[in-house]
Amino acid sequence: MQDQSDNYIRIRGARTHNLKNINVDLPHLQLTVITGVSGSGKSSLAFDTIHSEGQRRFLENLSPGTRQIFSQMQPADVDQISGLPPTISIEQTQRVHSRRSTLATMTELYDYFRLLFAQRGTVHCTQCHQPLHQQSAEQIVDLILALEDRKKVIILSPVITAKKGDHTAVLNKIAKEGFVRARVDGVVVDLSQSQDLKESDFHDIDIVIDRIIVKEGIDARLKESIDLALKHGDGVCIVSQETETCWSDRFLSTRLACGKCQLSFPDPEPRTFSFNSPYGACPNCQGLGVIEASNHEKIEQVCPECQGARINEYGRSVKLKGQSIDQLVDQTAPEILVWLNDWERSELTSHNSQDQEIVDQLLPPIRSRLKYLAEIGLNYIKLNRPAHTLSGGEHQRARLASFLGAETTGACYILDEPTAGLHANETEKLLKILKRLNQAGNTILVVEHDHDVIKASDYILDLGPQAGEQGGEVVVSGCYQDVIQNHRSFTSRALNAEYEIKSRPDTPQSGAKPELVLKGAKLNNLKNVTLKIPLQKLVCITGVSGCGKSSLVLETLVPALKAEFKSESRQDLEYDSLEGSEFLQQIKIIDQAPLGQSGRSNPATYCGIWDEIRKLFAKTKLSRMRGYTARRFSFNAKEGRCKHCHGQGYRRVDMQFLPPLYLPCEKCKTKRFNQQTLAVKYRGKSVSDILDMPVDEAVVFFDQIPKLKKVLQVLKELGLGYLALGQPANMLSGGEAQRIKLATELISNPTAMTLFVLDEPTRGLHAADIDCLLSVLDRLVQEGNSVLMIEHHPQAILAADWMIDLGPEGGESGGIILDEGTPEEISVRKTGQTGQMLNDFIS
Ligand code: ADP
Ligand code: ADP
Ligand code: ZN
Ligand code: ZN
Repeated sequence: MQDQSDNYIRIRGARTHNLKNINVDLPHLQLTVITGVSGSGKSSLAFDTIHSEGQRRFLENLSPGTRQIFSQMQPADVDQISGLPPTISIEQTQRVHSRRSTLATMTELYDYFRLLFAQRGTVHCTQCHQPLHQQSAEQIVDLILALEDRKKVIILSPVITAKKGDHTAVLNKIAKEGFVRARVDGVVVDLSQSQDLKESDFHDIDIVIDRIIVKEGIDARLKESIDLALKHGDGVCIVSQETETCWSDRFLSTRLACGKCQLSFPDPEPRTFSFNSPYGACPNCQGLGVIEASNHEKIEQVCPECQGARINEYGRSVKLKGQSIDQLVDQTAPEILVWLNDWERSELTSHNSQDQEIVDQLLPPIRSRLKYLAEIGLNYIKLNRPAHTLSGGEHQRARLASFLGAETTGACYILDEPTAGLHANETEKLLKILKRLNQAGNTILVVEHDHDVIKASDYILDLGPQAGEQGGEVVVSGCYQDVIQNHRSFTSRALNAEYEIKSRPDTPQSGAKPELVLKGAKLNNLKNVTLKIPLQKLVCITGVSGCGKSSLVLETLVPALKAEFKSESRQDLEYDSLEGSEFLQQIKIIDQAPLGQSGRSNPATYCGIWDEIRKLFAKTKLSRMRGYTARRFSFNAKEGRCKHCHGQGYRRVDMQFLPPLYLPCEKCKTKRFNQQTLAVKYRGKSVSDILDMPVDEAVVFFDQIPKLKKVLQVLKELGLGYLALGQPANMLSGGEAQRIKLATELISNPTAMTLFVLDEPTRGLHAADIDCLLSVLDRLVQEGNSVLMIEHHPQAILAADWMIDLGPEGGESGGIILDEGTPEEISVRKTGQTGQMLNDFIS
């Protein structure tokens, strides 16, 4: 056990990345917020030091084989960490999800629902939908006797149905009981011979009880066989009869039979409702709920067999209080809570005391998870929503809800900007949840910029004062008062800042003002919305999460405009018309997606300056002597790069249950090029030195090369001065990637008639960085472009020329435009939750 007696996580001598050998004490069972401008070292401390050490300790308990892989993992650069509970990191980057993962499965609610339906559901005949009845062994015998004369039948007892694993022990047991034959995966085999069953495959095993030909005088033998079959099959048996081409099975149950259709059904069990198992999954779509459209493999359509329910006909026929499990999860958490209360009430009146225990065990965890989902602001998402369609913030909150529901205690949760995607008034709910995790015995660390979270925290660790080399120190550690009184802290400046509405001179327009008008948008929850966007302005779309901002902008307007530019026919887009696209030439989405998946792209290659730098190296004396061209200095050229890591500097190791690990290349030690290439120096620096150089330093170093200087200066202006030119793209944060994309547009954008679309660009940014970002957006607008952003941050909203507020709530009770106008007008009118929030923020 860890010594947690002194109530602190004590970190001594942390030097990861830019951290300056810092000592930090973080209180147990409290909410600590780590603040600082981006690049100051927050993630280096929270994730790359604390969580990395937590993971390393966890992995030490694993098998030696697994441990060996991790022995190569770089330990965090820190002298000592004491008092560290097990760490759980809740980041926003979506882990690779199975295509069958849904909000219900990721919160474990689906597991509980499966148990509940298996134990309490009523089964209906899939043909006539009537409830089922019992049938006797005699009735089963009569069914067989009614078959045509001289028909061959095999009587079987099912023991394993569609189950993975090594079933040798089961086969041995059957043999011991005196049976000679079994049917394994449809083939009758001799039990004296050993069977080789692959553990990873799904198997069926049935005991062969009797083989018999239907004819007069077999009644007694048949009755005996059926009795035996029912005994070993626990009340069910299979009668397989020979047809012209094959053997066809008939499943017979003493418990669940429909006399009218002469059909029997197996007892429901949790697997009946599993779309991850061939036992429960819809056979047509294998549990995905969708299939590829026959004429287009990239387009999916709802599975015609299950209508998206994912489970097979039998699973869908099991009902609880009038609903099947797929109908149940096709609702939001609050809706399901209502259903659950109804059901429990009717259950109480029927008081079946033996079942009461089951209810007592299942209902509390179901209820707590549903409540947490609703409280954490996911009240508008249906439980069957595929996990991969959740936004980063939604995903993070869903994971939070499942940890809360599981009542984990004694852990240290580390969260990366949990307010991302949240409207200001939803932050309060999030805070309540975090405090509750504290009360349940957990320690919480969050990396956050949000003022309300900072104010509500128990302890603040402010890193900085600036980014990169100019950061990595503890500027303030203490309470809110300590921070706002500190004059060195950028966080303090941001917290003390007074915000006001900017007044932008109204640009005189000749003639009609250009405007983009999208009519009749109806996707998801949108209620026939007409969206009017003034062009050559900075326009902001606001509203609580789930109200329809992405559906309107990213999923309707953007594809509609794209189709317009390519003069393609619009493909199934849910809107009526789009006017004003003639004022635009192109649309650019500047999102937070990585710049590239390969470790070979980086800020320098993305912005196009790497080619220039390579040319400089090719012009050096040594290059000319050796005949090296610019190509030699590319990671893509075999001659120049490190053979071992193919110029990536890191090697990727894939782990079964964990995200991939990147280990430094042992040959080139992350230098990425071979010795001969590294011998070439430009003004004393090798290519690898240049890749390690932060933008700030490069601006000075390349002062004489205008082409490079121009680009580097834009990067610096965007607050990326601390970033190394060659930082691999997969190690950049979403916000950093987004700003690099913006820089590239600023440098290369040839036409001014561009609409830039940004989804929450302030995510991950400190108030000081937001100012940089806004001034760049402003510059784009001054040059005649149009900018449309989805935002929650008041600082960003107030900088807009025009805002459009959606609402009033998330989900079905949203999808309406509540108000549009300047931020000032809306804050004065206090329209909806956003207007109120702006008003509070200014006053
Ligand atoms: P924050 O989380 O405060 O935005 P980070 O901890 O991500 O800041 O970054 C702090 C500094 O460490 C920055 O200069 C950044 O470029 C650098 N850095 C981040 N990740 C790595 C890495 N994997 N390798 C080397 N330097 C890194
Ligand atoms: P916002 O961007 O304002 O947070 P969204 O446009 O993402 O809101 O969501 C609006 C509504 O549409 C919500 O009820 C959401 O659950 C629903 N929705 C969004 N995407 C999908 C999807 N892929 N499938 C089904 N419903 C969706
Ligand atoms: Zn299906
Ligand atoms: Zn290498």
